[in-house]
Amino acid sequence: MDKVVVGKSVEKEIEKGVPLIFGTVVKKIIGEPKKGELVEIIDEQGKFLAKGFYNPKAAAIVQIVSKNQKEEIDEKFFEKKIRNALEFRENVLGFENFYRLFFGEADGIPGLVVDRFNQIAVIQTSCPGVELWKNQIASILLGIEGIKTVFERNDSRSRIKIGLPINVGLLKGEKRLQAIVEENGVKFEIDVMRGHKTGFYLDQRENRIKFEEYIKEGMHVLDVFSYTGGFGLHAAKKKAGVTMIDLKPALKEARRNAELNGFNGINFIEGNAFEETKKLFGRKEKFDIVCLDPPSFVQKSSDLQKGKKAYHQINYNCIKLVKPGGLLVTSSCSHFLEPSDFIDVIVSAAANAGRKAILVEQRAQARDHCTSLASKTGNYLKCLFLRIE
Ligand code: SAH
Repeated sequence: MDKVVVGKSVEKEIEKGVPLIFGTVVKKIIGEPKKGELVEIIDEQGKFLAKGFYNPKAAAIVQIVSKNQKEEIDEKFFEKKIRNALEFRENVLGFENFYRLFFGEADGIPGLVVDRFNQIAVIQTSCPGVELWKNQIASILLGIEGIKTVFERNDSRSRIKIGLPINVGLLKGEKRLQAIVEENGVKFEIDVMRGHKTGFYLDQRENRIKFEEYIKEGMHVLDVFSYTGGFGLHAAKKKAGVTMIDLKPALKEARRNAELNGFNGINFIEGNAFEETKKLFGRKEKFDIVCLDPPSFVQKSSDLQKGKKAYHQINYNCIKLVKPGGLLVTSSCSHFLEPSDFIDVIVSAAANAGRKAILVEQRAQARDHCTSLASKTGNYLKCLFLRIE
């Protein structure tokens, strides 16, 4: 096996459980490893530290899969990791039928994500080493009770940078593209080919269920960036008056989901959320609860300033729409925006709107999106429940 030599400081990081080795800490490469091949990481005295997949075009040049030199990285290895991840979702978290089954580093294989929607498993790979094992991974998934289809959603543009092709389609099993899942009694139809991400925002699942607890019959609820109805349909279930804002394609699906649940009377506003929230304010509309779940405004670190301005603007608009003493449930899914920076943005948006934000709950992504504490990279979703005075 070819070897990647790293300096002293890296040894401590590996000990702590950091799973990614960045090119900047590499002293030397012994041999000519190919993209996706297993390499050993050694110190300058030649001592074995870990082994992982070589990813020459990525900033993280090695993705560690084992700290045990003797451990074979074979089909049994993948099966064990996937079974452990499944066991955790089903037996520890008690999640049923749909969940993030596997989440990269936290489950022991950086670069592998598997989401399950009933009989369909959707996989995403972002590491050439894992990519080589894709077909075996699909077979392992088909061996799980109830999974009949393995679909691939490898359409992230970041794949191109690391030399991986874009692939979307059936990987193994029966052809099936849609599933209907039921989240706390609310049904959603999911299309694994056309939907965002792998089809559904599983990361907000527990926040949507939490949100429902605050809704009472007859309340006025606004769901800004509603997608297929995620938060808003939970409010409709509790018989609130619901308004959703999103773009046309998402609202088409939201309407279908409303119908699927038999919820009538939802007000759908198609358009740009920045403009539409301003118009609502112009008409002096007020809501008991406003939910705000925008797409990531900070896609890369150089977008941070621009992104913060966008978060500020949309939060400012939405804070103005909350009745005194009402709630704002505001989220950011930007990796590059630290939780403390997000809070600063909201504090200043509230101040500009002449209002005060009181923290009721500080939440994050659903627990099936668990993350390695050592690597600090996987925890991206911020969701604040705020009382707006
Ligand atoms: N809350 C949703 C997920 C929202 S994802 C859930 O729980 O499922 C973000 C949404 O923002 C997407 O549906 C996208 O269509 C929408 N979007 C992006 N830019 C927009 C804009 N300028 N105006 C309105 N909607 C926008």
